[in-house]
Amino acid sequence: MSDLSARILGVRRNRRSPWPARWAEIATRLVAAHGVPSLGNFRDPVKEIFYILLSAKTADAQYRRTNRALHLAYPTLEALAGAKPKGVRACIESGGLAPTRARRIIALAKTLLKAGAPHPARYLRSLDAAAAFRFLTGLPGIGPKSAFCVMMYSLNRDVFPADVNVIRIAERLGALRCGLDHAKAQKTLAKTAPDGRSKELHIGLVVHGRTVCTPRNPKCGDCCLADLCAVGRRVTAKP
Ligand code: SF4
Repeated sequence: MSDLSARILGVRRNRRSPWPARWAEIATRLVAAHGVPSLGNFRDPVKEIFYILLSAKTADAQYRRTNRALHLAYPTLEALAGAKPKGVRACIESGGLAPTRARRIIALAKTLLKAGAPHPARYLRSLDAAAAFRFLTGLPGIGPKSAFCVMMYSLNRDVFPADVNVIRIAERLGALRCGLDHAKAQKTLAKTAPDGRSKELHIGLVVHGRTVCTPRNPKCGDCCLADLCAVGRRVTAKP
């Protein structure tokens, strides 16, 4: 049983919970149903940080587009750190929250250049998991979920980020109490994340949440998890 997420977040693993085994089974089914597709993430942790920042509360196609525009206009961290907010805003406008994000992106580039000098990506790769988490969550606009995403996608760490799709499906499955705040939900899930399956489980839940277990009108009749799911069992048991 992996406990990297739990150790980093300072919570105790729930050794008696049936959920690590259930999550492993869910990961297997989701891989069979959806594969493990690329969601456009980057191997370079610095590029990934900006990608994750732009992805929050934004539709998939939008944040891919704004991220591309940003990198075309400012191909290096130095260029981004020296950018004017107006120029950055123009690149990311269509993704929403542009004024706040533009300020954050410039601050982030400046902080990365200073704290990770001379090569922020190399510096991040050199850190152990706990130090990488501390470094990432010390950056402007990067919380625990974003830090876990960067660690999972770009630093190959077996940590389990709880994004909105993950939380919604976990609630429906009965793995998570409804209405927990995000920090509590992330910690609760860290107690039961399965060994070595974090990335495929996370990607599987994101894809499943976008295509089958959608926020409204989930397609329980077509769901490969229906027999494991509190909501699915109720829906499919109806006459
Ligand atoms: S059975 Fe329905 S609610 Fe449960 S995971 Fe599948 S789509 Fe979501």
